[in-house]
Amino acid sequence: MKILAVNAGSSSLKFQMYEMPEEKVLISGVFERIGIDNSFYTIKLNGEKIRKDVELSNHSVAVGFLTKELLENNIVDSLDEIKGVGHRVVQGADKFDRTVIVDENVEKMISDLSCLAPLHNPAALVGIKAFKEFMPNATHTAVFDTAFHQTMPEVAYMYALPYEWYKDYSVRKYGAHGTSHKYVSLRAREILGKDDSKIIVCHLGNGGSISAVVNGKCIDTSMGFTPNAGVIMGTRCGDIDASIIPYIMNVTGMNANDIDTAINKKSGLLGISGISSDSRDIEINAENGNKRCILAQEMFSRRVVEYIAKYYVLMGGADAICFTAGIGENSISTRKSIIDKLGVLGIKLDENANNIRGEEKLITTSDSKIPCYVIPTNEEVMIARDTYNLAMEEKNV
Ligand code: AMP
Repeated sequence: MKILAVNAGSSSLKFQMYEMPEEKVLISGVFERIGIDNSFYTIKLNGEKIRKDVELSNHSVAVGFLTKELLENNIVDSLDEIKGVGHRVVQGADKFDRTVIVDENVEKMISDLSCLAPLHNPAALVGIKAFKEFMPNATHTAVFDTAFHQTMPEVAYMYALPYEWYKDYSVRKYGAHGTSHKYVSLRAREILGKDDSKIIVCHLGNGGSISAVVNGKCIDTSMGFTPNAGVIMGTRCGDIDASIIPYIMNVTGMNANDIDTAINKKSGLLGISGISSDSRDIEINAENGNKRCILAQEMFSRRVVEYIAKYYVLMGGADAICFTAGIGENSISTRKSIIDKLGVLGIKLDENANNIRGEEKLITTSDSKIPCYVIPTNEEVMIARDTYNLAMEEKNV
Protein backbone atom coordinates (compact mmCIF):
# COMPACT_ATOMS: atom_id res chain seq x y z
CA MET A 1 0.00 0.00 0.00
CA LYS A 2 1.35 3.43 -0.98
CA ILE A 3 1.37 5.97 1.85
CA LEU A 4 2.62 9.57 1.77
CA ALA A 5 4.07 11.27 4.86
CA VAL A 6 3.79 15.04 4.58
CA ASN A 7 5.21 17.94 6.58
CA ALA A 8 3.87 21.29 5.39
CA GLY A 9 5.38 24.53 6.67
CA SER A 10 4.28 28.03 5.79
CA SER A 11 6.63 28.19 2.77
CA SER A 12 7.83 24.60 2.48
CA LEU A 13 6.50 21.11 1.96
CA LYS A 14 8.42 17.94 2.67
CA PHE A 15 7.20 14.52 1.60
CA GLN A 16 8.21 10.91 1.72
CA MET A 17 6.35 8.14 -0.08
CA TYR A 18 6.37 4.66 1.44
CA GLU A 19 5.43 1.19 0.35
CA MET A 20 3.74 -0.14 3.46
CA PRO A 21 3.88 -2.24 5.55
CA GLU A 22 7.44 -2.88 4.25
CA GLU A 23 8.37 0.73 5.17
CA LYS A 24 10.30 1.06 1.94
CA VAL A 25 10.92 4.67 0.87
CA LEU A 26 10.01 5.03 -2.82
CA ILE A 27 10.65 8.74 -3.30
CA SER A 28 11.13 11.78 -1.10
CA GLY A 29 11.58 15.47 -1.55
CA VAL A 30 11.08 19.01 -0.43
CA PHE A 31 9.43 22.05 -1.98
CA GLU A 32 10.96 25.30 -0.80
CA ARG A 33 10.14 29.00 -0.92
CA ILE A 34 6.47 28.35 -1.73
CA GLY A 35 4.75 31.68 -2.32
CA ILE A 36 8.11 33.52 -2.43
CA ASP A 37 10.53 34.22 -5.28
CA ASN A 38 13.19 31.71 -6.39
CA SER A 39 11.10 28.70 -5.43
CA PHE A 40 12.34 25.21 -6.25
CA TYR A 41 12.06 21.58 -5.29
CA THR A 42 14.41 18.69 -4.84
CA ILE A 43 13.53 15.03 -5.07
CA LYS A 44 15.46 11.96 -4.05
CA LEU A 45 14.91 8.92 -6.16
CA ASN A 46 17.05 5.77 -6.55
CA GLY A 47 19.85 7.42 -4.56
CA GLU A 48 19.91 10.43 -6.87
CA LYS A 49 19.00 13.99 -5.88
CA ILE A 50 17.43 16.24 -8.53
CA ARG A 51 16.70 19.96 -8.20
CA LYS A 52 14.14 21.82 -10.28
CA ASP A 53 13.60 25.57 -10.25
CA VAL A 54 9.90 26.20 -10.76
CA GLU A 55 7.37 28.81 -9.75
CA LEU A 56 5.48 27.65 -6.67
CA SER A 57 2.82 30.28 -6.05
CA ASN A 58 1.05 28.18 -3.43
CA HIS A 59 0.94 24.71 -1.82
CA SER A 60 -1.57 23.45 -4.35
CA VAL A 61 0.87 24.17 -7.18
CA ALA A 62 3.57 22.28 -5.23
CA VAL A 63 1.29 19.24 -4.80
CA GLY A 64 0.59 19.44 -8.55
CA PHE A 65 4.34 19.11 -9.28
CA LEU A 66 4.59 16.32 -6.72
CA THR A 67 1.83 14.29 -8.37
CA LYS A 68 3.45 14.86 -11.78
CA GLU A 69 6.76 13.48 -10.46
CA LEU A 70 5.02 10.44 -8.95
CA LEU A 71 3.35 9.63 -12.26
CA GLU A 72 6.31 10.44 -14.54
CA ASN A 73 8.71 8.37 -12.45
CA ASN A 74 6.25 5.45 -12.41
CA ILE A 75 5.99 5.47 -8.64
CA VAL A 76 2.24 5.17 -9.22
CA ASP A 77 0.18 4.61 -12.36
CA SER A 78 -2.77 6.47 -10.88
CA LEU A 79 -3.08 8.75 -7.84
CA ASP A 80 -5.81 6.41 -6.55
CA GLU A 81 -3.02 3.98 -5.64
CA ILE A 82 -2.10 6.35 -2.79
CA LYS A 83 -4.32 5.06 -0.04
CA GLY A 84 -3.19 7.32 2.78
CA VAL A 85 -1.63 10.73 3.34
CA GLY A 86 -0.32 11.50 6.83
CA HIS A 87 0.03 15.17 7.70
CA ARG A 88 2.29 16.40 10.47
CA VAL A 89 0.46 18.90 12.67
CA VAL A 90 2.41 20.78 15.33
CA GLN A 91 -0.28 21.58 17.88
CA GLY A 92 -3.04 19.23 18.95
CA ALA A 93 -3.09 20.55 22.54
CA ASP A 94 -5.19 18.36 24.87
CA LYS A 95 -7.69 17.68 22.11
CA PHE A 96 -5.70 14.92 20.40
CA ASP A 97 -3.77 12.14 22.10
CA ARG A 98 -3.29 10.11 18.94
CA THR A 99 -3.30 10.24 15.13
CA VAL A 100 -6.78 10.75 13.69
CA ILE A 101 -8.47 10.72 10.30
CA VAL A 102 -8.99 14.30 9.10
CA ASP A 103 -12.67 15.08 8.62
CA GLU A 104 -14.31 18.51 8.63
CA ASN A 105 -14.55 18.53 12.41
CA VAL A 106 -10.84 17.72 12.82
CA GLU A 107 -9.94 20.47 10.33
CA LYS A 108 -11.96 22.93 12.39
CA MET A 109 -10.27 21.80 15.61
CA ILE A 110 -6.81 22.18 14.04
CA SER A 111 -7.84 25.64 12.88
CA ASP A 112 -9.18 26.56 16.35
CA LEU A 113 -5.84 25.52 17.85
CA SER A 114 -3.98 27.96 15.59
CA CYS A 115 -3.99 30.46 18.47
CA LEU A 116 -1.47 28.11 20.18
CA ALA A 117 0.63 27.58 17.02
CA PRO A 118 -0.01 30.60 14.78
CA LEU A 119 2.72 29.78 12.25
CA HIS A 120 2.37 26.02 12.11
CA ASN A 121 -1.25 24.88 12.32
CA PRO A 122 -2.51 27.11 9.47
CA ALA A 123 0.34 25.80 7.28
CA ALA A 124 -0.62 22.19 8.04
CA LEU A 125 -4.22 22.98 7.08
CA VAL A 126 -3.12 24.48 3.78
CA GLY A 127 -1.19 21.24 3.13
CA ILE A 128 -4.16 19.06 4.06
CA LYS A 129 -6.48 21.00 1.74
CA ALA A 130 -4.01 20.86 -1.16
CA PHE A 131 -3.53 17.09 -0.86
CA LYS A 132 -7.26 16.44 -0.41
CA GLU A 133 -7.84 18.28 -3.69
CA PHE A 134 -5.50 15.93 -5.60
CA MET A 135 -6.16 12.74 -3.61
CA PRO A 136 -9.80 12.89 -2.49
CA ASN A 137 -10.10 9.11 -2.10
CA ALA A 138 -7.09 8.67 0.19
CA THR A 139 -7.35 8.47 3.99
CA HIS A 140 -5.92 11.75 5.26
CA THR A 141 -4.60 11.69 8.81
CA ALA A 142 -3.30 14.31 11.22
CA VAL A 143 -0.24 13.24 13.22
CA PHE A 144 0.26 15.63 16.11
CA ASP A 145 3.64 16.64 17.54
CA THR A 146 1.99 17.00 20.92
CA ALA A 147 0.04 13.70 21.03
CA PHE A 148 2.82 11.57 22.54
CA HIS A 149 3.08 13.97 25.48
CA GLN A 150 -0.60 13.75 26.39
CA THR A 151 0.21 10.99 28.89
CA MET A 152 2.01 13.51 31.13
CA PRO A 153 0.38 13.75 34.55
CA GLU A 154 -1.14 17.02 35.76
CA VAL A 155 1.77 17.53 38.14
CA ALA A 156 4.10 17.67 35.13
CA TYR A 157 2.03 19.76 32.74
CA MET A 158 0.67 22.46 35.07
CA TYR A 159 2.43 25.78 35.61
CA ALA A 160 2.40 27.51 38.99
CA LEU A 161 0.49 30.45 37.49
CA PRO A 162 -3.01 31.74 38.25
CA TYR A 163 -5.23 28.68 37.76
CA GLU A 164 -7.62 30.71 35.57
CA TRP A 165 -4.87 30.99 32.94
CA TYR A 166 -5.09 27.23 32.55
CA LYS A 167 -8.90 27.11 32.63
CA ASP A 168 -9.60 30.18 30.52
CA TYR A 169 -6.60 30.31 28.18
CA SER A 170 -5.38 26.67 28.08
CA VAL A 171 -1.96 27.66 29.47
CA ARG A 172 -0.19 24.38 30.31
CA LYS A 173 2.71 22.30 29.05
CA TYR A 174 2.02 20.51 25.73
CA GLY A 175 5.55 19.62 24.58
CA ALA A 176 6.63 19.07 20.98
CA HIS A 177 8.73 16.71 18.80
CA GLY A 178 6.41 13.97 20.11
CA THR A 179 6.63 11.82 17.00
CA SER A 180 10.43 11.82 17.26
CA HIS A 181 10.38 11.02 20.99
CA LYS A 182 7.97 8.19 20.32
CA TYR A 183 10.08 6.71 17.52
CA VAL A 184 13.36 6.91 19.42
CA SER A 185 11.96 5.56 22.70
CA LEU A 186 10.29 2.70 20.82
CA ARG A 187 13.55 1.89 19.06
CA ALA A 188 15.42 2.02 22.40
CA ARG A 189 12.95 -0.44 23.89
CA GLU A 190 13.53 -2.75 20.92
CA ILE A 191 17.31 -2.49 21.39
CA LEU A 192 17.04 -3.11 25.13
CA GLY A 193 14.65 -5.96 24.48
CA LYS A 194 12.25 -4.91 27.19
CA ASP A 195 8.96 -3.06 27.32
CA ASP A 196 9.13 -2.02 30.98
CA SER A 197 11.82 0.59 30.65
CA LYS A 198 12.83 4.09 31.66
CA ILE A 199 14.22 6.00 28.72
CA ILE A 200 15.51 9.55 28.39
CA VAL A 201 15.35 10.87 24.83
CA CYS A 202 17.45 13.92 23.92
CA HIS A 203 16.16 15.36 20.64
CA LEU A 204 18.81 17.97 19.92
CA GLY A 205 18.40 19.76 16.62
CA ASN A 206 17.86 23.38 15.74
CA GLY A 207 14.95 22.99 18.13
CA GLY A 208 15.63 20.72 21.10
CA SER A 209 13.66 18.81 23.70
CA ILE A 210 14.26 16.10 26.25
CA SER A 211 11.64 13.65 27.40
CA ALA A 212 11.23 11.00 30.08
CA VAL A 213 9.48 7.87 28.84
CA VAL A 214 8.35 5.14 31.23
CA ASN A 215 7.09 1.87 29.71
CA GLY A 216 6.51 3.66 26.41
CA LYS A 217 4.58 6.56 27.93
CA CYS A 218 5.86 10.11 28.21
CA ILE A 219 5.81 11.32 31.81
CA ASP A 220 7.54 14.67 31.25
CA THR A 221 9.15 16.73 28.53
CA SER A 222 11.21 19.90 28.42
CA MET A 223 9.24 21.94 25.89
CA GLY A 224 6.24 23.68 27.35
CA PHE A 225 3.25 25.74 26.33
CA THR A 226 5.29 26.57 23.24
CA PRO A 227 8.46 25.04 21.76
CA ASN A 228 10.50 27.77 23.41
CA ALA A 229 10.85 26.13 26.85
CA GLY A 230 13.52 23.74 28.10
CA VAL A 231 16.98 23.39 26.63
CA ILE A 232 18.94 26.06 24.77
CA MET A 233 18.27 25.89 21.04
CA GLY A 234 19.61 27.40 17.82
CA THR A 235 17.76 30.68 18.21
CA ARG A 236 15.37 29.99 21.12
CA CYS A 237 16.30 30.75 24.69
CA GLY A 238 14.75 27.76 26.49
CA ASP A 239 14.03 28.16 30.22
CA ILE A 240 14.47 31.67 31.56
CA ASP A 241 13.25 33.71 34.51
CA ALA A 242 9.88 34.98 33.22
CA SER A 243 10.33 38.34 34.93
CA ILE A 244 13.14 39.22 32.52
CA ILE A 245 10.42 39.89 29.93
CA PRO A 246 8.47 42.70 31.64
CA TYR A 247 11.80 44.15 32.83
CA ILE A 248 13.20 44.36 29.26
CA MET A 249 9.88 45.69 27.97
CA ASN A 250 10.01 48.45 30.55
CA VAL A 251 13.63 49.46 30.06
CA THR A 252 13.70 49.24 26.24
CA GLY A 253 10.12 49.99 25.22
CA MET A 254 9.97 46.70 23.27
CA ASN A 255 6.46 45.35 22.76
CA ALA A 256 5.18 41.78 23.00
CA ASN A 257 5.96 41.05 19.33
CA ASP A 258 9.52 42.38 19.65
CA ILE A 259 10.06 40.17 22.68
CA ASP A 260 8.58 37.18 20.89
CA THR A 261 11.06 37.69 18.04
CA ALA A 262 13.96 38.15 20.45
CA ILE A 263 13.32 35.00 22.47
CA ASN A 264 12.50 32.84 19.45
CA LYS A 265 14.79 34.14 16.72
CA LYS A 266 17.65 36.01 18.35
CA SER A 267 18.46 33.94 21.43
CA GLY A 268 19.89 30.48 22.06
CA LEU A 269 23.25 29.62 20.48
CA LEU A 270 22.91 32.68 18.22
CA GLY A 271 22.17 35.03 21.09
CA ILE A 272 25.05 33.84 23.27
CA SER A 273 27.65 33.48 20.53
CA GLY A 274 26.62 36.48 18.45
CA ILE A 275 27.88 34.44 15.48
CA SER A 276 25.53 31.65 14.46
CA SER A 277 22.62 29.43 15.43
CA ASP A 278 24.30 26.47 13.76
CA SER A 279 26.16 24.20 16.15
CA ARG A 280 28.80 23.45 13.49
CA ASP A 281 29.80 27.13 13.37
CA ILE A 282 29.82 27.25 17.17
CA GLU A 283 32.09 24.18 17.31
CA ILE A 284 34.59 25.58 14.80
CA ASN A 285 34.77 28.99 16.49
CA ALA A 286 35.03 27.42 19.94
CA GLU A 287 37.96 25.30 18.73
CA ASN A 288 39.58 28.55 17.57
CA GLY A 289 39.22 29.97 21.06
CA ASN A 290 36.14 32.21 20.64
CA LYS A 291 35.06 32.74 24.25
CA ARG A 292 31.37 33.31 23.55
CA CYS A 293 31.19 30.15 21.44
CA ILE A 294 32.89 28.18 24.21
CA LEU A 295 30.35 29.63 26.66
CA ALA A 296 27.45 28.77 24.30
CA GLN A 297 28.65 25.16 24.06
CA GLU A 298 29.05 24.84 27.81
CA MET A 299 25.64 26.36 28.54
CA PHE A 300 24.05 24.10 25.93
CA SER A 301 25.44 20.84 27.32
CA ARG A 302 24.91 21.92 30.94
CA ARG A 303 21.19 22.55 30.33
CA VAL A 304 20.80 19.14 28.68
CA VAL A 305 22.54 17.53 31.67
CA GLU A 306 20.20 19.36 34.06
CA TYR A 307 17.21 17.81 32.30
CA ILE A 308 18.76 14.34 32.19
CA ALA A 309 19.47 14.58 35.93
CA LYS A 310 15.94 15.77 36.64
CA TYR A 311 14.34 12.94 34.65
CA TYR A 312 16.71 10.35 36.12
CA VAL A 313 15.45 11.31 39.56
CA LEU A 314 11.78 11.61 38.53
CA MET A 315 11.81 8.16 36.90
CA GLY A 316 13.83 6.59 39.72
CA GLY A 317 16.69 5.71 37.35
CA ALA A 318 17.11 5.24 33.63
CA ASP A 319 17.67 2.17 31.41
CA ALA A 320 18.98 4.20 28.48
CA ILE A 321 19.77 7.73 27.35
CA CYS A 322 19.31 8.36 23.62
CA PHE A 323 20.61 11.13 21.38
CA THR A 324 18.85 12.10 18.18
CA ALA A 325 18.25 14.92 15.61
CA GLY A 326 20.92 17.07 13.92
CA ILE A 327 23.15 17.76 16.91
CA GLY A 328 22.34 14.56 18.82
CA GLU A 329 23.12 12.40 15.80
CA ASN A 330 26.11 14.30 14.46
CA SER A 331 27.91 16.37 17.05
CA ILE A 332 30.60 14.16 18.56
CA SER A 333 31.87 16.93 20.86
CA THR A 334 28.41 17.87 22.17
CA ARG A 335 27.64 14.26 23.08
CA LYS A 336 31.05 13.96 24.78
CA SER A 337 30.53 17.18 26.71
CA ILE A 338 27.12 15.96 27.94
CA ILE A 339 28.15 12.41 28.80
CA ASP A 340 31.35 13.50 30.57
CA LYS A 341 29.20 15.63 32.88
CA LEU A 342 27.14 12.54 33.81
CA GLY A 343 30.10 10.68 35.35
CA VAL A 344 28.53 10.88 38.80
CA LEU A 345 25.80 8.49 37.59
CA GLY A 346 28.47 5.95 36.56
CA ILE A 347 27.97 6.73 32.86
CA LYS A 348 31.17 6.22 30.82
CA LEU A 349 31.64 7.37 27.24
CA ASP A 350 33.37 5.06 24.78
CA GLU A 351 35.35 7.67 22.81
CA ASN A 352 35.87 5.37 19.83
CA ALA A 353 32.24 4.37 19.59
CA ASN A 354 31.20 8.00 19.92
CA ASN A 355 33.24 8.90 16.86
CA ILE A 356 30.27 8.49 14.51
CA ARG A 357 27.67 10.64 12.81
CA GLY A 358 24.14 9.74 11.87
CA GLU A 359 24.15 6.03 12.64
CA GLU A 360 22.55 3.92 15.34
CA LYS A 361 25.19 3.02 17.89
CA LEU A 362 25.89 2.31 21.57
CA ILE A 363 28.39 5.00 22.57
CA THR A 364 29.12 4.08 26.20
CA THR A 365 31.48 1.42 27.57
CA SER A 366 30.25 -2.03 28.60
CA ASP A 367 30.69 -1.14 32.29
CA SER A 368 28.76 2.15 32.00
CA LYS A 369 25.89 2.10 34.54
CA ILE A 370 23.48 3.45 31.92
CA PRO A 371 23.93 2.78 28.20
CA CYS A 372 23.75 5.80 25.88
CA TYR A 373 22.76 5.40 22.25
CA VAL A 374 22.71 7.46 19.10
CA ILE A 375 19.39 6.67 17.40
CA PRO A 376 18.69 8.61 14.19
CA THR A 377 15.11 9.79 14.36
CA ASN A 378 12.50 8.91 11.76
CA GLU A 379 9.32 10.94 12.18
CA GLU A 380 8.20 10.14 8.63
CA VAL A 381 8.03 6.41 9.22
CA MET A 382 5.90 7.00 12.33
CA ILE A 383 3.53 9.14 10.27
CA ALA A 384 3.41 6.41 7.61
CA ARG A 385 2.76 3.65 10.18
CA ASP A 386 -0.15 5.48 11.83
CA THR A 387 -1.61 6.44 8.47
CA TYR A 388 -1.27 2.91 7.11
CA ASN A 389 -3.09 1.51 10.16
CA LEU A 390 -5.92 4.05 9.91
CA ALA A 391 -6.22 3.58 6.14
CA MET A 392 -6.48 -0.20 6.67
CA GLU A 393 -9.18 0.37 9.30
CA GLU A 394 -11.12 2.86 7.20
CA LYS A 395 -11.02 0.67 4.15
CA ASN A 396 -11.83 -2.43 6.24
CA VAL A 397 -8.87 -4.27 4.80
P1 AMP B 1 17.87 19.54 12.84
O1 AMP B 1 16.99 20.65 13.33
O2 AMP B 1 17.54 18.22 13.47
O3 AMP B 1 17.98 19.47 11.34
O4 AMP B 1 19.35 19.89 13.35
C1 AMP B 1 20.04 21.03 12.95
C2 AMP B 1 21.29 21.19 13.82
O5 AMP B 1 22.11 20.02 13.67
C3 AMP B 1 22.13 22.40 13.47
O6 AMP B 1 22.49 23.10 14.65
C4 AMP B 1 23.35 21.77 12.85
O7 AMP B 1 24.49 22.53 13.08
C5 AMP B 1 23.46 20.47 13.59
N1 AMP B 1 24.33 19.54 12.86
C6 AMP B 1 24.08 18.92 11.69
N2 AMP B 1 25.19 18.22 11.30
C7 AMP B 1 26.13 18.41 12.25
C8 AMP B 1 27.47 17.97 12.42
N3 AMP B 1 28.07 17.19 11.52
N4 AMP B 1 28.14 18.38 13.53
C9 AMP B 1 27.57 19.17 14.42
N5 AMP B 1 26.30 19.62 14.33
C10 AMP B 1 25.60 19.25 13.25
